[in-house]
Amino acid sequence: MSIISDSLKRIKPSPTIAVTQKARELRAAGKDVIGLGAGEPDFDTPDNIKNAAIKAIKSGDTKYTAVDGTPTLKKAIVDKFKKENKLNYSTDQITVGTGGKQVLYNAFMATLNKGDEVIIPAPFWVSYPDMVLLAGGKPKIVKCTEQEGFKITAKKLKKAITKKTKWVIINSPSNPTGAGYLKKEIEDLAKVLIKNKKVHILSDDIYEHIKYDNFNFFTIAQISKLRDRTLTMNGVSKSYAMTGWRIGYAAGPKDIIKAIGKIQSQSTSNPSSISQAAAVEALNGNQVFIKKRSKAFKERRDFVVRSLNNIKGINCLKPNGAFYVFPSCKDFLNKKTKLKTDTDFVQKLLEKSNVAVVQGSAFGLDGYFRISYATSMKNLKKAMGRIKSFCESLNK
Ligand code: PLP
Repeated sequence: MSIISDSLKRIKPSPTIAVTQKARELRAAGKDVIGLGAGEPDFDTPDNIKNAAIKAIKSGDTKYTAVDGTPTLKKAIVDKFKKENKLNYSTDQITVGTGGKQVLYNAFMATLNKGDEVIIPAPFWVSYPDMVLLAGGKPKIVKCTEQEGFKITAKKLKKAITKKTKWVIINSPSNPTGAGYLKKEIEDLAKVLIKNKKVHILSDDIYEHIKYDNFNFFTIAQISKLRDRTLTMNGVSKSYAMTGWRIGYAAGPKDIIKAIGKIQSQSTSNPSSISQAAAVEALNGNQVFIKKRSKAFKERRDFVVRSLNNIKGINCLKPNGAFYVFPSCKDFLNKKTKLKTDTDFVQKLLEKSNVAVVQGSAFGLDGYFRISYATSMKNLKKAMGRIKSFCESLNK
């Protein structure tokens, strides 16, 4: 009999691993592979944040803290919501975890019973379905097309809701497409959700600050009738280039926040005391670099989208946030190219042209691939040249 638990058997290994592993092997073999797979900013954590961490270490801020976050960090988070999202929370409506990932995992563990459904619009961030499965829930995947801007419509949401629906996830701007929901689009979804009083909303706002073209970020908790049913997750990983520090947080109903803390108290306890001190500085300190970095990301986005759309057979929407694009490779999947799936396409691209990207099917939508442009312009120029030559060779 296997030592491995049944719950672990419910989940699959990360589908992105095949490409990442192959890229690693090729690099080890001395090949000049350009990785466009990373989900993290290539920028460094700003100095004021690093200095706050050094100060915390030197002043002995090195002990256990309150399980779900220090009072100082919770206060900084309350202030952030007030200032940036016009949302008023008290500190007992805030929880802090080891990355947004832990907060989401705890939220599902704390709320899902066997068979409870979670509506996940696809393309989705790879971890949502498996987290739901681990917690005993049932992911209900709703495919959103390129024509819909890869965003769930009110009509599709309404159709997907059943008596068993416990959560719907909204991720804006999105990983993997970069699509941000406009205020009107959120309001349309809200109309459906206001009528379905048992459904809770999990809003993943981790890319809030990485946005372009005057996109006005709007989060569903701003709809007052849904406030009591919304858990808003955010964190410092992407906005402040702090992926390694592992600080994420959420705001929402007190009972859910308390339950998340209970799980954390019996699993990891508090997130790192030093990272929490750094996160206080991130949230309270100077925010000027966020705009500067968004400007750099925008230049890259414009370059990547333009370059991709200049390639015959590729179509790429121009997203208004995050640092990903999600172009179509459907035109290359045919008998002539001998490529059947997007996985074949990305594997061939890696083997022939040394560019690592991730297949769309890993994110729940076939026929696409994800490019992360969180890398230097030099790398992007080289990569776009290689993708163009690769596609031209397929077109021949
Ligand atoms: N949500 C989305 C959509 C993400 O892309 C990520 C990270 O890639 C996370 C949540 C989790 O971020 P972290 O755990 O680094 O805070």
